[in-house]
Amino acid sequence: MNKFFLIICIIISAFVKANEIKFHEVKKLENEVIQISFLLEKVSFIKSYSLVDPSRLVVDVYKTNLKSSVSEVYNYPIKKIRATSENGITRIVVDLYEFINWKKPTQSFNGEQVVLNLELTNAKGLKNNIRDIVIAIDAGHGGRDPGTVGSNNILEKDVTLLIAKELERTLRDTSGYQAVMIRNDDDTVSLNDRYQSARRYGADAFISIHADGFRLESVNGASVFIWSDESSSSVARNLSEKERQRIQAQIKNLKSYDFNEDYARDLYPNTYKKKISQSKVLGIKILDQLKRDPYTKLHKKNVEFADFRVLKSVDIPSVLVESGFLTNPGDAERLKSKAGRRMIGRSIFLGIHNYFKEVPISGSILEDYQNYLNYEIQQGDVISEIAIRFGVTVDTINKTNNLKNKSIFPGQVIRIDI
Ligand SMILES: [Zn+2]
Repeated sequence: MNKFFLIICIIISAFVKANEIKFHEVKKLENEVIQISFLLEKVSFIKSYSLVDPSRLVVDVYKTNLKSSVSEVYNYPIKKIRATSENGITRIVVDLYEFINWKKPTQSFNGEQVVLNLELTNAKGLKNNIRDIVIAIDAGHGGRDPGTVGSNNILEKDVTLLIAKELERTLRDTSGYQAVMIRNDDDTVSLNDRYQSARRYGADAFISIHADGFRLESVNGASVFIWSDESSSSVARNLSEKERQRIQAQIKNLKSYDFNEDYARDLYPNTYKKKISQSKVLGIKILDQLKRDPYTKLHKKNVEFADFRVLKSVDIPSVLVESGFLTNPGDAERLKSKAGRRMIGRSIFLGIHNYFKEVPISGSILEDYQNYLNYEIQQGDVISEIAIRFGVTVDTINKTNNLKNKSIFPGQVIRIDI
């Protein structure tokens, strides 16, 4: 056989080979959390949702093959866990006695296999099954890669992490959201690992945070990018041989259990089309907020397309925010200050929030959104800072929550009208 043909066959068979899945266990964790686990060979493309009448959770695991069907009876609130494979899709159904809180399934590699975990919590009195919206926050660069070195030696990797933490804090303390950080410290993370992590966490949106650099000091302002394979292929045509090799090396970095997004784009073209249009809406919503931000100027007033492979997921709306030019002294000063970074974090948060109001996720808190958020007061919080965080006035918060001349305390939940 021709050597080239043989290589192609090996590559194809690696993709086509069914990903075997099997039921693992049900475990009780702390705080009444119940964890249902399945084992896989590779990270898979998953769709999960809840249904009512009767109450149940459904997880569809694509391109997998279940060894033998599952039908296990469990204790309250789970009636039964069922799983069957048909046409390469394994459907896991968790039948429930009543409505519960649940989390999107995560996939993690335990050294030998991929563990698919589905967590649910029994919460009395719910009118529906509900789950949080999961936002993956990607602080650009890190570790050995400093990114742009700006005025006064300010490093992009430090700025991006601080903005990411601002955004994480707001999401974490606001009901209905769950934030996952792609990096939490000054770590080196490959581009592949960034979007692969978002998939493993089951992210509903992926936000990559960066800051620009340019040889002209005068160039300034923020911009928002999304990825498309058209822009990527037109860029690819103009790539130098060296760049091409660098990208090839990145693709080779994919681990054996990773999910192949490039292959998935051919497999699920409609899913990808939807993702591109949703990314655009998300980008526009974030830009709309940046336009209102009193600190930040815009570099480009429309959402741009670019070949940022970190945004390449087949189904997760993904946006890259360039928060300003570190080579511009004004922008560098702004991004060095907490107030400036908080404004970027706020614009991204409000952009995300407005996006999910327009493109609601069934069974999330925001589905029945009524123009307010619940925020949980943290140690050290003051109302004026919370007001800045959400872009509202102190007066509004005080009035809505009847807080005039009263002190606030950690754990207290206040309502923010936005
Ligand atoms: Zn960057």
